[in-house]
Amino acid sequence: MTDLKNKIVLITGASAGIGAACANVFAAQGAKLILNARRETRIDELSDQLKKEFGIEIQKLIFDIRSLDQVKQAFNSLPEEWKNVDILVNNAGLAIGTDKFQDADLADWEQVLDTNIKGLIYITKEVLPNMIKRESGHIINLGSIAGREVYIGGNIYCATKFAVNAISKAIRADTLDKKIRVSSVDPGMVETEFSIVRFRGDEEKAKNVYKGLQPLTPEDIADAVLFCATRPPHVNINEILLTPLAQASAFYAVREE
Ligand code: NAP
Repeated sequence: MTDLKNKIVLITGASAGIGAACANVFAAQGAKLILNARRETRIDELSDQLKKEFGIEIQKLIFDIRSLDQVKQAFNSLPEEWKNVDILVNNAGLAIGTDKFQDADLADWEQVLDTNIKGLIYITKEVLPNMIKRESGHIINLGSIAGREVYIGGNIYCATKFAVNAISKAIRADTLDKKIRVSSVDPGMVETEFSIVRFRGDEEKAKNVYKGLQPLTPEDIADAVLFCATRPPHVNINEILLTPLAQASAFYAVREE
C-alpha cells in the first residue's frame, strides 16, 4: 500500500461534488491538500472543515483553469516545497446543455473544451516537471463513460472525455521511463451539481436525470480515486469504469416507476 500521510495532493474543482469528496478521503489519510476552484467561499468552508476534522495542512488555489496565466501564476505562488505535488487529481470539468450538434451553441462548446481539455493540460504541464525530476508522482484524471460512448446530445462533452482518455494514455506512454503513475477514473451517472450546471441551473431537469434509479455518489468515485492512489508503488491502475448498478452503458439504464 502507498501511505498517503503528508503526501501533497492537488485537486482541481474541489468546491463541489467529486472533487470535494476526494478532498475528504485524502484528508482522512493525512495528506496535505492543494484545493482549486473558482468559488473561493466554498474552498474556504471545505478547508476549515478538513483542518478541524483531520488537522491537515491546506493551500487554496483560486483560479479559473481555462486561463493559462491564472494557472501559472497560482502554481508559482505556492511555497517551494508545495510545488512537489505527489498526486494530481484532474477533476475540474463540466458539460453544458444536451443540444444536438446542429443546434448547440459554439460559446458553450468553447467553455467545455477549454475547461475539460485545455485546463487539464495547463495544470498538468505545471505539475509534471517536478514529478519527472523526482521520478515519482501520480496523475489521476476524471474521465467519464462519455469518453467511451457517444450518445445523442453528448457531442462535444463526449469529445472532451475521449480526449481525456487519450491524454491519460499519452502521458502514461511518454513518462513510462520516469516512474510516473497515470490513472483514469471514468464514472457513469453520479449525482452532483454536474446536471444542474449542464441544465443551466434548472434543478427540476437535473433531478430527472437520476429519476427512478440510485445514482453513484461523489464518495463512490472518491473511493475509486483513493484505490488508485493507495496501490503499492509498482502497480498502476490504468482505468476504472464504474456505473450505478442500474446503468449498463451510456444507453442502457433501468428505472423504477
Ligand atoms: P460538479 O459538482 O459540478 O463539480 C465540478 C467542479 O469543477 C466544481 O468544483 C467547479 O468549481 C469546478 N470547475 C468547473 N469549471 C472550472 C474552471 N473553469 N476552473 C476551475 N474549476 C472549475 O461536477 P462533478 O460531477 O463533481 O464533476 C467532476 C468531474 O467528474 C468532471 O470532470 C466531470 O466531467 C466528471 N464526471 C462527472 C459525472 C457525473 O455524472 N456527475 C460523470 C462522469 C464524469 P467552481 O465552479 O467553483 O470553479
